Amino acid sequence: MSTVCRDYRERLDLLEDYLEGRLPASEQAQLSEHLGRCERCAQALAAAQLATQVLREARLLRAPEPSLGFAQRVTARLQAEQQAIADFWHALEVFARRVSWTASVLLLVLGGYLWTLDLPTHQQVGPQETAEVQEIFPEPYQRPANPEEVLLSLTSNGAGR
Ligand SMILES: [Zn+2]
Repeated sequence: MSTVCRDYRERLDLLEDYLEGRLPASEQAQLSEHLGRCERCAQALAAAQLATQVLREARLLRAPEPSLGFAQRVTARLQAEQQAIADFWHALEVFARRVSWTASVLLLVLGGYLWTLDLPTHQQVGPQETAEVQEIFPEPYQRPANPEEVLLSLTSNGAGR
């Protein structure tokens, strides 16, 4: 059964505190009970957990002298979680309203990560593929110069939806 969750927006704002255990015990229990039977809120919680996890790792990455191989482990985990990225962006929206500086860090980390992926470049793309790309993107496709540009394009796309 699925009913419309009337207080979805309000609950989204509680999820961060819920995850950190900062809610009063009664609210914590109430929300926990609700999450057990509301699929929509449960999905939002899963996304928020993922965002929190990535944020935590981002903080660790910025710490001086991370342990050897840590970046590889983070990269491997991110690759394993590509399925969850759509949910992740949704969580990011929520978090952006709550703690914009935190979301900015996430966006930069994710933007930087996406930037390192094997994006097509003018050197690698053949003439035919270029034509296909230009059908999809009316403007000439250019590889972003830096993670900030990726961030800008991602946020502008997101706002259009
Ligand atoms: Zn709900």
